Amino acid sequence: MRVEKCFVCSAPIYPGHGMAFVRNDSRMFRFCRSKCHKFFQKKRNPRKAKWTKAFRKAAGKELRVDPALEFEKNRNEPVKYSKELWDNTVKAIKKIEEIRTRRQDHYIASRLKKGKEIRKLADTVEVEKSIHLIRPPAAALKQKKQMVEVVMERDVDSMDVN
Ligand SMILES: [Zn+2]
Repeated sequence: MRVEKCFVCSAPIYPGHGMAFVRNDSRMFRFCRSKCHKFFQKKRNPRKAKWTKAFRKAAGKELRVDPALEFEKNRNEPVKYSKELWDNTVKAIKKIEEIRTRRQDHYIASRLKKGKEIRKLADTVEVEKSIHLIRPPAAALKQKKQMVEVVMERDVDSMDVN
C-alpha cells in the first residue's frame, strides 16, 4: 500500500480516494478531492493559494527541513535494516506474541515489580541522604525540650486546680 500525495495541496491520498490525471507525456497527477482537481484544471499555481502546502512552505509558515519529510519520502525500494536490528526486532515480536498468547498477567506484574523495588530503594537512599534538608539536627532537640516544658506546665496547672 502506498499513500500518495495530492499534487495541489499535498494532502495524503489513501488507496481508493481521490483522482488521478495522466498527461499525454505519461506524467501522473493525483488529487485528493474535486477541489484540488478543479484547481488543477483551471491551471492555477498551487503556490498562490493559501490553503496548499506549497504556499505554506513558500511563505515560511512551515518547516522546510523536517526529519518527517525524509521519513515519508516515496521510495521504490524498501528500506534495508541492519542484520542486528532486524534480529532484535524479530526477537521482540516473538516475545510480544508469546506474552499475548499466554496472557500471563503475572508476567507483566513481575516485570513491574522489579522497577518498584528499585524505585523504593532509590527513594530510601534519597531520604537518608537529604533528611537534613527538611529536619535540621537541632530541631529534634528543641522539639523535645518544648514537649517537656508543656508537660511540666500542665502538671503545674493541674496541681493548682486541686
Ligand atoms: Zn488536495
